[in-house]
Amino acid sequence: MKTYKHLFFDLDHTLWDYTRNARESLGELFMDFALAEKGIASFELFFEAFEAVNYQLWENFNQGKLDKISLRKVRFQRIFAHVGADPLGIPVELEQEFVIRTSSKPHVFPGAFEILPYLKEKYGLHIITNGFSESQSLKIEASGLAPFFDLVVTADSTGYQKPDKRIFEYALKSLNTHPSECLMIGDNPASDLLGANRVGMDAIFFNPGNAQSSHPYLYAIKQLGELQAIL
Ligand SMILES: [Mg+2]
Repeated sequence: MKTYKHLFFDLDHTLWDYTRNARESLGELFMDFALAEKGIASFELFFEAFEAVNYQLWENFNQGKLDKISLRKVRFQRIFAHVGADPLGIPVELEQEFVIRTSSKPHVFPGAFEILPYLKEKYGLHIITNGFSESQSLKIEASGLAPFFDLVVTADSTGYQKPDKRIFEYALKSLNTHPSECLMIGDNPASDLLGANRVGMDAIFFNPGNAQSSHPYLYAIKQLGELQAIL
């Protein structure tokens, strides 16, 4: 095992529980905007459509096929289309409310607040995220993660998104360090693991859902607490 100096965490679906937080805020929005009266039969259908549409939009964003403005512009149009509701019924504030409310939710994965103080004693802790600066800083504050992290690198502050190695190089340069001294921990093989591989950094696959990865990694973990035995 190498002696690492810095650990880079992904944020969404790795530390911050995106699905739980989004589900909670969408539940509120479903009621507050009376979406049942706009042709969406149930919250469960709405949430299923959100998951399918949002996953695909983020895949496209990560692959550089879609920019941030377009993602936010089409998200609820596609969700409404997915459930067969008239997109003309979309409240104009829905997207902005979704971003603010979701990003203000606090839920992190179990074990986060046990493992982070332990790791913080031994390593520099940082975040590399493909999310957008304003939402990511809200999430980090609202969840209580902020005190653990020194550097937060986002796709829109650098102009590059994982797996582009330039977002990793930006972080390495900011910390005046080398890939051999760093480790990436993330849930997304195509952005976190591939990106780390490209820049020559070891990676740990956070994989609570037993997904497959065609990209190499050092260890896979299902719980954040497993990091204590490795690091
Ligand atoms: Mg992630």
